[in-house]
Amino acid sequence: MTEAPVKAPAIGPPTFATPEEERRHRKQRLAAGFRLFNRFGFNEGVAGRITARDPVRPDHFWVNPFGMHFGLIRASDLILVNHQGEVVEGRYPVNQAAFAIHSQVHAARPDVIAAAHAHSIYGKTWSTLGRLLTPITQDVCAFYEDHAVFDDYTGVVNEIAEGQRIAKSLGDKKAVILRNHGLLTVGQNVDEAVWWFVTMERSCQSQLMAEAVGKPVEIDHENAVRTRGQVGSHLAGWFQFQPMWQRIAKEEPDLLD
Ligand SMILES: [Zn+2]
Repeated sequence: MTEAPVKAPAIGPPTFATPEEERRHRKQRLAAGFRLFNRFGFNEGVAGRITARDPVRPDHFWVNPFGMHFGLIRASDLILVNHQGEVVEGRYPVNQAAFAIHSQVHAARPDVIAAAHAHSIYGKTWSTLGRLLTPITQDVCAFYEDHAVFDDYTGVVNEIAEGQRIAKSLGDKKAVILRNHGLLTVGQNVDEAVWWFVTMERSCQSQLMAEAVGKPVEIDHENAVRTRGQVGSHLAGWFQFQPMWQRIAKEEPDLLD
C-alpha cells in the first residue's frame, strides 16, 4: 500500500486580514522580545530597547515604557511614539535616546519593521575593539559582509543628527556595532530583529573567548557567503525566533495581555 505524501505547511511569517490584527500580533511579539532580553540578561538599568513600526500608522513606532523592567512588560504597557518623539498612546514616557536612534533607523529604512539595541555585556565589550566580527563560526556568518561599525562615539545619543549618522552607518545591513556602546540589529519583523540580536551577542562572546586563548581559524570568503545565504536570510532569522517565542509565551503568558 502506498501512502499519499504529506504536504508540510509552508514555514514563514503569518499574514493578516487587517492592520489592527497585525498590530496586535506585533505588540505581542515585541513584549515577548523584552521578556527574552530579560531572560538573556541584556538589561542594564534602563538602557536598551526594541522598537516596532506600527502597521496602522507606519511613521509611528511601538517601544517599551522608559524605566519599566523588561521582565515585566506586557503588550498593553507598550507606548506608541510619533515621528516627533511624542507619546501618542500609553501612560509612560519615551527614552529620548530611543527616539533619536530608532526613529532615524526606521525613517532611513522603510523595510525595517523592528530594531533592537541593548548594552549587553559581550556586545558592548566587543564594541570597544571597533572591529567587525570575523567569520569564525557557522552562526556568525549570518553577519558576514552584512554588518557595520559606527566608530563615532560622542556620548549618550540624544540628537537626531547622531541617529541619522548611525542609520547611515547601518546602511542596508542587518546590524551595526556602535563602538564603545553596544549592538543594534534590525529586521523585517520583531522576531528577526530579536534573533539577530541574540545570535550577534553570542557571536561576540564566542569571538572574545576564542581570541582570548588563540587565533581562530577563519571560514573562507566563498563558504562564508554560502553560509550567510543559509543562516542569514530574513526567513532564517524569523524561524530561529520561533522556539524562543513558544517557550516564553507558555511560561510568561501575561506578556500577551
Ligand atoms: Zn544604548
